[in-house]
Amino acid sequence: MRKYNFSAGPSVLSVEVLERVQSQLLDYEGTGMSVMEMSHRSKPYEAINNETEALIRELMGIPENYDVIFIQGGANLQFEAIPLNLAKNKKADYIVTGNWAEKALKEAKKFGDYVEAASSADKSYSYIPATSRKSFRDGIDYVHYCHNNTIFGTKFNYVPDTGNVPLVCDFSSSILSEVVDVSKYGVIYAGAQKNLGPAGVTVVIVRKDLQEQFAPLCPTMLKWKTQIDNKSLYNTPPCFATYVAMESMRWLKKLGGVKAMQKINEDKAALLYNFIDSTDFYTNPVNKADRSIMNIPFKSPSEELDEKFLKEATAAGLVTLKGHKVQGGMRASIYNAMPVEGVKALVEFMKKFELANK
Ligand code: PMP
Repeated sequence: MRKYNFSAGPSVLSVEVLERVQSQLLDYEGTGMSVMEMSHRSKPYEAINNETEALIRELMGIPENYDVIFIQGGANLQFEAIPLNLAKNKKADYIVTGNWAEKALKEAKKFGDYVEAASSADKSYSYIPATSRKSFRDGIDYVHYCHNNTIFGTKFNYVPDTGNVPLVCDFSSSILSEVVDVSKYGVIYAGAQKNLGPAGVTVVIVRKDLQEQFAPLCPTMLKWKTQIDNKSLYNTPPCFATYVAMESMRWLKKLGGVKAMQKINEDKAALLYNFIDSTDFYTNPVNKADRSIMNIPFKSPSEELDEKFLKEATAAGLVTLKGHKVQGGMRASIYNAMPVEGVKALVEFMKKFELANK
């Protein structure tokens, strides 16, 4: 029996994708072996590698003047790769809207002049700060921000205006969930384990004119150019994770692509927010205009009731709803592959729980 899994990541994959992977597990397209067992230099894997790139290019509308790589190390490794790859002046500004953005800045600080340009820490990261060109210093290599804050349930509903300064953005928990104008960015990166596929593969999208600004000491494996020049095959790639990402993107394309998915995601999020807003039993701490459509934190009136909620929800097949430890309470992560039935089941459960515990 499959449960409704609200995990923040790794997270739910579509049943259709899982079944397809299962059907190809012992014999991938007549090769007599699994993708897990296959050389990354083989023709079938080359086809997977090429299609994965072609699909993300098509789904996100990535312009020709960008390269896309699928690599290992997660978003965390990119926190260090970014200052080492964009190191003309060793100086950049960060918008800090949560733990991940904070960590990105912390890593960069080791390498030069990296500072916080704006922050929402004053109100426990419950909103997205406004910024303008004036918020950023002169002579910087880039401005970094995190599009969707997985822990705090906020998201940027505007693209910061940085003039000619490249924007670098962590899209780990929102990639492929809504339409994005890639041409506004210098670099986009995301771990796959929420909307793109399973854990193990990280996508990095880099504008061509930003590929020669790496620090002389940038390690070969951290240098984007290394993988760009080798079509993500410089070293052994995360073959199986990339293959499942390809299948997930085929599924998304069949559903109508990112625009259609965005509508589904907005509808799913509205179901939950509308219910939360209609009661005074549950609360969501986020400024309404800055609410995420992927991660929705909420609380009941007390910590004791939160605990009871989580226990009873789990027994009802609604699992991994515990909030991040810095937030407490509950958090429903409703990524692309969470069916609308899962959100409806959660809302029904919340209604019953409220009636029984008011
Ligand atoms: N950024 C964001 C927005 C995230 O949600 C996460 C993981 N939950 C990370 C970065 C860290 O990603 P990874 O574990 O792939 O390094």
